[in-house]
Amino acid sequence: MKEYQSFIGGQWVGSQSGKTFESINPATGEINGIVAEGDEKDVDLAVKAARKAFESGPWSSMAPSDRGRLLYKVAQKLWENLDYLAETESNDNGLTINETKMIAIPAAIDVLEFYAGMANKIQGDTLASPSNRFNFTLREPIGVIGAIVPWNFPIMLTMWKLAPALAAGNTIVIKPAEQTPISILELARLMQEAGIPDGVINVVNGRGSSAGAALSSHSDVDKIAFTGSTATGKLIMRAASNNLRPVSLELGGKSPNIVFEDADIEEAVNGSLFGIYFAQGQVCAAGSRLFVQKSIYDNFIDRFVSKVESIRVGNPLDPSTQMGPQVSEQQLNVIERYVQIGQDEGAKLVTGGRRNQSLGGGFFYTPTVFTDVSNDMTIAKEEIFGPVVSIIPFTDEEDALSKANNTIYGLASGVWTNDLSRSLRMARGLNAGTVYVNTYSMLDSTAPFGGNKQSGFGRELGIEALNMYTKTKHVWVDLSKEKLNWYGF
Ligand code: ADP
Repeated sequence: MKEYQSFIGGQWVGSQSGKTFESINPATGEINGIVAEGDEKDVDLAVKAARKAFESGPWSSMAPSDRGRLLYKVAQKLWENLDYLAETESNDNGLTINETKMIAIPAAIDVLEFYAGMANKIQGDTLASPSNRFNFTLREPIGVIGAIVPWNFPIMLTMWKLAPALAAGNTIVIKPAEQTPISILELARLMQEAGIPDGVINVVNGRGSSAGAALSSHSDVDKIAFTGSTATGKLIMRAASNNLRPVSLELGGKSPNIVFEDADIEEAVNGSLFGIYFAQGQVCAAGSRLFVQKSIYDNFIDRFVSKVESIRVGNPLDPSTQMGPQVSEQQLNVIERYVQIGQDEGAKLVTGGRRNQSLGGGFFYTPTVFTDVSNDMTIAKEEIFGPVVSIIPFTDEEDALSKANNTIYGLASGVWTNDLSRSLRMARGLNAGTVYVNTYSMLDSTAPFGGNKQSGFGRELGIEALNMYTKTKHVWVDLSKEKLNWYGF
């Protein structure tokens, strides 16, 4: 059985308490490895290592061009290990090998390359000052970043924080999710091998309520970056408020995906399938409320459901598999509970709605469709984080907008139409961090991603995210020959 330790100050170390936990492969229910279970003490060691590397190590003082060059070299190393990282991540969280190898890991490396290129483009301003003074701003690294990440895309969502943090000269402590402790350790190992100095990246696994809580309340962490559930986001913000540390929160969603009668129906069906079933529905931006205009409602549902029923669920490492297992037994239970509530509240279960028992000891569920859902039912309001779509009819643009925006969340949204003006009216009207037009669930390193309302705040990716990993310092230089002597002494 393979054992994994914490990665602190460039060393592999066991937990201070000696405790370990088992990491389970969700496709088989078997043990992937035994992992050191960190708590407050381990987090404190990691923060100290990150602080030391930030204050006295070569990283933050390195010429930005050299830092960028090194990050490119690291990206090259990750490309060389793409297959290995993809397989490790699939074993950790059950994503299909196509999802990790063709989407999640390449997208993560692309993000690293994007910020490698940004390392020497972080610059302040010369301000409009009169001739007797000189004012300018410096964009400096913040210091030690605490990153708390979830299990759905461990490497990618870590990279969204790690890459801009490193490009700007920060150091970092990462707390992966309990369900997926291994792939981020392997990422850190490869990055060290490619030349990232000791202490710049630290990884401590452990429970959210101990290691995660310790990181978010640590007085020597300068900023917390979190992706995960809205409930946990609130706890993290509260913990960070004790030290008044800035937080960025990328949280849950119940994103509307709206299909108008003038859309290309075949494209809308295919895109909406990807929008909800990609990664087994375990996507914060999933198009889990599918609004379909009444005039095409029955036709759309017929075509949608017949495709849902032919999605191949199975072994995630088999390249012909289209949907793998859910991440854990606990997630399966959550999904089952919501499916029961949907039926109890009167939604029509058209397909799915059960575990897939034919696939052995893994946590498999059948892709599920509810129709005749109304926007006030629980399954249209709460995030399920599984392969369950709620299809809701609407009449016109106004009806679609008012229903789509009637949610506590505001992460993503989608519009399918061939009417340009309509698409832009909807883009203006939707209260969400992202509006997709005639596509869904796409990401790009250049494009800021994040949410409104209870989906959180702060934007990851793009040039914009660098603002979260730098702070502005203003320097005022007095050039006047006659200095101020207010008191006349
Ligand atoms: P889920 O409910 O799907 O497990 P969470 O938002 O709870 O999602 O988990 C995302 C990350 O947040 C994980 O790394 C988890 O360990 C961490 N976490 C959970 N609870 C806390 C907490 N109280 N403080 C800090 N981190 C936490």
